[in-house]
Amino acid sequence: MHPAEPKSNLWTHTSAPTPHYPALQGERRADVAVVGGGFTGLSAALHLAMGGADTVLLESEQPGFGASGRNNGQVIPAYSRHNPDDAVAAFGEERGERLNEMVAASADLVFDLIRKHEIECDAVQNGWLQPAHRASRMRGVRAKHDQWAARGAPVEMYDAARAAELTGSPIYHGGWLHRSGGHIQPLGYSRGLARAAQAAGVAVHGDSPVQAVDREGGQWRLKAAGGVLRADKVILATNGYTGNLFPNLRQTIVPLRSTHVATTVLGDNVAKTILPGDHGLSDTRQALWAFRKDRFGRIVTTSAPVFTAGARGRMTASTIRRLNIAFPQIEQPQVEYVWEGIIAMTPERLPRYHELAGGMIAALGYSGRGIALGTAVGRMMAQRALGLPANELALPPAPLKPLPMHDLVVPLARTLSWYFRWRDSRD
Ligand SMILES: Cc1cc2nc3c(=O)[nH]c(=O)nc-3n(C[C@H](O)[C@H](O)[C@H](O)COP(=O)(O)OP(=O)(O)OC[C@H]3O[C@@H](n4cnc5c(N)ncnc54)[C@H](O)[C@@H]3O)c2cc1C
Repeated sequence: MHPAEPKSNLWTHTSAPTPHYPALQGERRADVAVVGGGFTGLSAALHLAMGGADTVLLESEQPGFGASGRNNGQVIPAYSRHNPDDAVAAFGEERGERLNEMVAASADLVFDLIRKHEIECDAVQNGWLQPAHRASRMRGVRAKHDQWAARGAPVEMYDAARAAELTGSPIYHGGWLHRSGGHIQPLGYSRGLARAAQAAGVAVHGDSPVQAVDREGGQWRLKAAGGVLRADKVILATNGYTGNLFPNLRQTIVPLRSTHVATTVLGDNVAKTILPGDHGLSDTRQALWAFRKDRFGRIVTTSAPVFTAGARGRMTASTIRRLNIAFPQIEQPQVEYVWEGIIAMTPERLPRYHELAGGMIAALGYSGRGIALGTAVGRMMAQRALGLPANELALPPAPLKPLPMHDLVVPLARTLSWYFRWRDSRD
C-alpha cells in the first residue's frame, strides 16, 4: 500500500522511548558548558564528565534534534573526499598521521561506546562498502584502499562480481570495504549518548536555546530560554544548526538541506537479496548516494542536497527511479517516510576546529561524515577542555574565516550539487 502522505523521520518511529530533558531554570554554575545535543556535544559532555568536569549541556530542542537524529546512520571511519596522504600533505607528517589515526579509530569508538553504555540503536558493525559507480572510479577506490591498508586499517578490495554479491545490485564495477564501519539507528544512538552522559553526571537540558553569551568576571555567561549558566569553558557543537548567535561561526560552513527517504518494509525474499551482509553503503557518485537497510527491512537512503522548493516530491521520484535501476528485484518500490536534515559542508570537506577567546572552543563542518568523526571530535574537545595542549590534538585549531559573500555561497553550492546530480544521472 502506498501511503497518501509519507510519514516524517523514520527514526522517531523506531527509537526506544526517551525521557524528556527539562529546560535549564534559574541560575547554575559549571566547569564546562556544552551547547548543542548532537553526537559532537553529547560525546564531549560524556567524556568531560568521565574526566571529572562538572558539565552542563544545553540543547535548543531535545538531544538528537539536529543532523544526529536525521541521518543515514552509516558509521564510516574514512574521509568523505580525501585520502590519508592528503591529511599529511595538509597538516604535515605528525599532525596528519594523528588525524588519520583518529579517523581510522572513530568507528570502533562509536561501537565501543554503544557496547559500554548499552545503547539501544540497532548497531551493526559488519563493515562499510564504497563501490564504484563507473569503471573509471576504480582508480580512486584503489588509492583509498591502498592508503588506508598501508596504515593497518582492516580494508579489502573487491571486483564487479563480488560487488554484485555484496550489494545485491548489478550496477557496480568493484569497490573497497572497510571492516570496522557499519550502521546504527542514529536517533537511538543520540538518545543513548544523552542517557550515558546524564548517568555520568552531566546535567542535560533540552528546550534550552542559548540566546546570548557574554564574558563576565573571567567566566562565560550563557543566557538560555529559562535560566542562566556560568561556566569557565564553553564547547560549541551546533554544526549545521548554528544560528545568528554566532554569525562568524555560521558563516564558516555551507548549510545544505538534504532529503532522506525510507521505503516500505520489503518482503523477506527481496530484502535478503539487498546488502545480504547488512553492510552500509555510500557509492562514488560526486553527489553521493548512500543507503542501508533498517532492522525491519526498509531501504533507507539519502542523496546529495537539491533545491529546497519541491525537494520532497523530486527526491521521492528520483529514489524510486534509482531503486528501479539498482535493484530491479524490488517490484514497484514505495516510499513510506520522507524527512530533511541539514548537512554542514566546508569547502575542503573536512571538519574545522576553532579555539575562540577565553576557553571557548568549537567544531563543525563534517560535510556529511559526522557520526564517527563527530563522536571522535567531541571526545577530542573534551580532552582539550580537560587540559590537553592544543599541539597534541588530532585536528589543528583553524582560524575562524567566514566564507566571503556567505549569502551567495549557499545558493551557489546548491546549484553545484544539483549539477553533480545531473552529471551522475548521465553515468
Ligand atoms: C540527511 C543526512 C544524512 C547523513 N548521513 C550520514 C551518514 O550516514 N554518516 C555520517 O557519518 N554522517 C551523516 N550525516 C552527517 C551527520 O549527521 C552530522 O555530521 C552529525 O550528526 C553532526 O553532529 P553534531 O553534533 O555536530 O551536530 P547536530 O547533530 O546537527 O547537532 C547540533 C545541535 O545544536 C543545537 N543548537 C543549535 N543552536 C543552538 C543554541 N543556540 N542553543 C542550544 N542548542 C543549539 C541544535 O538544535 C542541534 O541539535 C548526515 C547528515 C544528514 C543531514
